[in-house]
Amino acid sequence: MAATKTFRRTDSARGDFSPLKHFVVAKKKISDLFEQLLSYVKETSEFVEVISGNEALGTIATKDQKVEIQTYADKLAVIKEVLARRHMKVAFFGRTSNGKSTVINAMLRDRVLPSGIGHTTNCFLSVEGTDEEKAYLKTEGSEEEKSIKTVNQLAHALHMDESLDAGCLVRVFWPKTKCALLRDDLVLVDSPGTDVTTQLDSWIDKFCLDADVFVLVANSESTLMNTEKHFFHKVNERLSKPNIFILNNRWDASANEPEYMEDVRKQHTDRCVNFLVEELRVLDRDQAPNHIFFVSAKEVLNSRMQRAQGMPETGGALAEGFKERLKEFQSFERRFEECISQSAVKTKFEQHTIRAKQIIEKVKNIMDAINIEAAEKRVAALEDREYQRDRLEFVRNQLNLLTEEIKKKIKAISDDVESKVSIAMGEEINRLNVIVDEFRGDFHPSPQVLKLYKADLLEHVEKGMGKNLAFRCSNAINASVQSSQQYMMDSMVPLLPSTAQSQVHMLVPKKTFDLSYDLNCAAICSDFQENIEFQFSLGLKALVHRYLGSVNAHRALKLVDPNYQNCRAVVPVTPSSEPPSIAAPPNEKALMTQEDLMIAMATNLASITSRTSMGIIVVGGVVWKAVGWRCIALSASLYGLLYLYERLTWTTKARERTLKRQFVEFATEKLQLIVSFTSANCSHQVQQEMATTFARLCQQVDQTERDLEANIRQLTTNIDKLETVQSCSKTLRHKATELEQQLEEFTKQYLQPQDSAVC
Ligand code: GDP
Repeated sequence: MAATKTFRRTDSARGDFSPLKHFVVAKKKISDLFEQLLSYVKETSEFVEVISGNEALGTIATKDQKVEIQTYADKLAVIKEVLARRHMKVAFFGRTSNGKSTVINAMLRDRVLPSGIGHTTNCFLSVEGTDEEKAYLKTEGSEEEKSIKTVNQLAHALHMDESLDAGCLVRVFWPKTKCALLRDDLVLVDSPGTDVTTQLDSWIDKFCLDADVFVLVANSESTLMNTEKHFFHKVNERLSKPNIFILNNRWDASANEPEYMEDVRKQHTDRCVNFLVEELRVLDRDQAPNHIFFVSAKEVLNSRMQRAQGMPETGGALAEGFKERLKEFQSFERRFEECISQSAVKTKFEQHTIRAKQIIEKVKNIMDAINIEAAEKRVAALEDREYQRDRLEFVRNQLNLLTEEIKKKIKAISDDVESKVSIAMGEEINRLNVIVDEFRGDFHPSPQVLKLYKADLLEHVEKGMGKNLAFRCSNAINASVQSSQQYMMDSMVPLLPSTAQSQVHMLVPKKTFDLSYDLNCAAICSDFQENIEFQFSLGLKALVHRYLGSVNAHRALKLVDPNYQNCRAVVPVTPSSEPPSIAAPPNEKALMTQEDLMIAMATNLASITSRTSMGIIVVGGVVWKAVGWRCIALSASLYGLLYLYERLTWTTKARERTLKRQFVEFATEKLQLIVSFTSANCSHQVQQEMATTFARLCQQVDQTERDLEANIRQLTTNIDKLETVQSCSKTLRHKATELEQQLEEFTKQYLQPQDSAVC
């Protein structure tokens, strides 16, 4: 048989090749496997814990999966503990004094259990190995280790211990160093004797359900008793096909009647085979004889003990047929060991191996699910990142295009505003006299009233012009600004995320754009100085003004009269067709010399001669010759009358009119100077308004860009992490497959029925 080849052993002593090693090796293997399995499941549990803790990645592993793996880890830890405690168990049954204790001692090659005194108690006695040097026992329900030195002491201890209940278990721990059999995880259980109990059922529940082999120690001097049979029937009801060996002990007694020996043996064998095959149906007829042995435990024990003490095996007296009986005992031992190790491996490890396979399958499935989930999420993240990148590029390009376009638009609108305001101002300046004429104020030539009057007039002009300008330009400008802002919004909205799109209108001011013309008349006309003193139209000053022009007249008059007032607004009282000329700035005075003035006077005089005045003089001369002094008198009276007339009509009203006219002329001149400045200012305001709106929108787009960039970064991180999750789940899955293979190998090697099966 293959098994016998595999598990060779010597006759004389248990070698390293004991069949029991099969169990020992299998136990180590399965324990190691469970160790690996446990650390593997712990690793997957940590992995799942980590990935479910990462919220950025979303749900890759569900809570249930996490709990499931943790449960598997707990279960594996429990199984590992159970496996560590697993051992092979053989239980010996039979009537009292059939030699159960002797058989156990013979197998252990030492007097471990007391024998020959009937069963000492109603307790079960188990013998198992301990790594300690000294033997001890433990009674049920107590962890106390009671030291035992000799068998007698043990017997005495058991006998004296009144606390021991019938059917309780006393565990004897025997040093492994003293007994090779115990080194191989074998536990031997001696029972009180099937004849002494009525509690078979509870015995079976307590001691037999985990027994791998049952040995019925029968007495070859009598037949199998019903009590013995009854017990095994009961065991057979509870366990499916228990492994049973029958030892017909005390076979040495048959040596006394050698002539009947064969018959007796056959009779016993037939009965035993019948019992195993017909009654219990635990074995085939072919196998049954291999489970029936005729032995003398007493002889074997004696010979082994003597051998251990260095004495001849037979102890001197060589009984008839001893060698055969010894061989048969050894044969029993070998078969028993093969059977128990194979059976124990199967019963003790098969279920756990199946459970381990199931767990590994489940964990593998979870790893697969995580791998798929991570892969799907990664693909989605890659697509999302691609989309976000496209979007970012689109937003950037679009923003550049729009910026250029909107800049141009702003420039065009600003230019338009500038020209609009400029034209409107020009028109308003031309009709400044209307605004001024509309002014009604308390006029009086006294300086205080005049000051107030002018201030009010300035205010009126400021307001009036502002109103008119607003009337002319504001609506159009507002409409243009608003439509441009709307255009900006419409073009920028698609660049914003949908959440921001609904709020974009808040970026554009709701109230209409209020253009400020800010003429600041008070400042620009602050140096307006009216001249409302009476001036005769044919007076010296007026004539000088007429012939030299206002600038030169002013200089000339200054030379004549140093007290002459510096009045830029001075104009002849009489209406003049000549347009008012702008006074030279004061600093020019220094540059002008008397020579310059003379040249100017000469030039003007020359112009007089060359013009109608010369004609008048010539005519005057002719008239003088004709009419003489009467003419002079008439002229003088006419001159006087004219003076009188002008003097009489120089009323307050006339003064106000004069002031207003002077003001209109002065303000016109001043306002014309600020037309370009004001229109540029208005244009600037519009430009500012639109630039501000654009800047706000750009800010939003910038924010969108930043958000997109952040999203892309986050997605890249997630993609990397998901890749790691994928590769980790793949690695863990491979590990699961490796473990599965190892479990499969273990199953093939230890759990599948083999040709060498002896049970
Ligand atoms: P147990 O009650 O079944 O445990 O039986 P024991 O082992 O205590 O043995 C009872 C008695 O039978 C002891 O005196 C043993 O020496 C004796 N005995 C056991 N085996 C044999 C045997 O094979 N041959 C003979 N002649 N006596 C035996």
